[in-house]
Amino acid sequence: MIDVLHFIDGQHVPSRSGRTFTSVNPATGKPLANVAFGEKEDVDRAVQSALRAFREGRWTGLAPAERASRMRRAAQIIADRADEIALLESQDSGKPLPAAKGDVVAAASCLEYFSQLPEHINGSLYATKPGMFAFSRREPYGVVGAIAPWNFPFNLAVWKTAAPLAAGNSIVIKMAEQTPVSTNALAEALIEAGVPAGVVNVVHGDGETTGATLAAHPDVPKITFTGSTEVGRKILHASAETIKSVHLELGGKTPNIVFDDADIDQAVAGSLFTSYFNSGQICTSGSRLLVNERLADEFVDTFRARAEAIVVGDPLAEGTHLGPLVSREQLDRVQGYISLGGNEGATLLTGGTQPAVAGCEGGYFINPTIFTDVKPEMRIAQEEIFGPVLSVMTFSSEEEVVRIANDVSYGLAATVWTRDLGRALRMSERLEAGIIWTNRPHYLQWNVPYEGHKLSGLGEDLGIESMTTFTKLKVNYIDFSGERMGWA
Ligand code: ADP
Repeated sequence: MIDVLHFIDGQHVPSRSGRTFTSVNPATGKPLANVAFGEKEDVDRAVQSALRAFREGRWTGLAPAERASRMRRAAQIIADRADEIALLESQDSGKPLPAAKGDVVAAASCLEYFSQLPEHINGSLYATKPGMFAFSRREPYGVVGAIAPWNFPFNLAVWKTAAPLAAGNSIVIKMAEQTPVSTNALAEALIEAGVPAGVVNVVHGDGETTGATLAAHPDVPKITFTGSTEVGRKILHASAETIKSVHLELGGKTPNIVFDDADIDQAVAGSLFTSYFNSGQICTSGSRLLVNERLADEFVDTFRARAEAIVVGDPLAEGTHLGPLVSREQLDRVQGYISLGGNEGATLLTGGTQPAVAGCEGGYFINPTIFTDVKPEMRIAQEEIFGPVLSVMTFSSEEEVVRIANDVSYGLAATVWTRDLGRALRMSERLEAGIIWTNRPHYLQWNVPYEGHKLSGLGEDLGIESMTTFTKLKVNYIDFSGERMGWA
């Protein structure tokens, strides 16, 4: 068993009460780690540590170039430790080891990208009347609370820390209780790279106690949250009392639209990727395949054969494409949706079953699943399943596909497969989503911003734009005219 403590003020510390919880390896169902459970006083201790670091200017007191250089150093430390962190991550989350390694390498590149930004947080100068001017500056909020889910644990820990850190904030991170094991490696790398103690703190625990305490804390003026729309709503409610600024990245029900002029070979490969990568446990997962009725039969036949060839297995074994789902609870939830699909009248074309995986008998595995004869109003076509369960629907015109694609409460992403430029641009204009991927799903770059539409989010993430998200505006009017104010 691995022991995981909180990381507060530069130290690994247990909970004040001594309380712990167990993190399970989802490939075996066996305990992996004994983790400190953050209660109210632990969250408060982490927030006070972050606040002290901020008020003393431990981070903002350094020149932006120096902060940039320390963040870059931390990125290098993470890249150097990628194998070790990836192994922990794979065992904690069920990701195949190469995918876990890819996530850690990408996390290092995230920190590296954001290390450029401390030197690019600029204000503006405004014209006023003669003898006066006004200027604005962007200042860090203070303590940012970062709450994240379990689908890309280490990557999201870095992602949610890097932007607020670049903007000069102190941070308290609360990662998901299902996957807490890799998070401290980030705090350790930052400390080793010279980011002062207290600037980045980690508290482990559940949502109802640990997360909710952070989300309601009076000394935390900004929350950045990635997770379900349901919890996002709770965080918004919790923010009302202390008027927090809240940044939310929430759920999705991404349409993956295949037109009959698409490069079909590319579209099949890309559709498999967007439907099943990370076992569909991604908010941008292309969980609705909308295919033109003229090519539907042939497309679905090919897609099905390729989906059935996906290897679901031991995350540590070579050749595994997909590992288990993250937890027993998630497996139950996904199986619940698979039963529901049948009850709603959809046809289970393939999957829905649990494969036998040698050496991983207690694991939460599920085969890639396809439903056909799906109606847009069915719950499997409306709700986020967060598993490898695809709903296939057909359409006959642009008009019809736009209507089906937009007729959900989410608006995170949409993918379009077409070789017709005019059609691609019409779709871009008409689809209600924050990210449109034409001929390449699931592609994000750290320097390109995005924002969820509808119930999928609030506030801009990534890119230089995130420096606005993680700073507050201050404006200063200056009068150098010497003119006496003629009032009373
Ligand atoms: P998922 O549905 O993907 O499990 P959730 O949205 O439930 O994701 O959880 C994402 C993160 O939010 C986790 O770190 C979880 O502990 C936390 N969380 C859950 N409930 C709350 C809450 N009421 N307040 C704050 N954080 C919460």
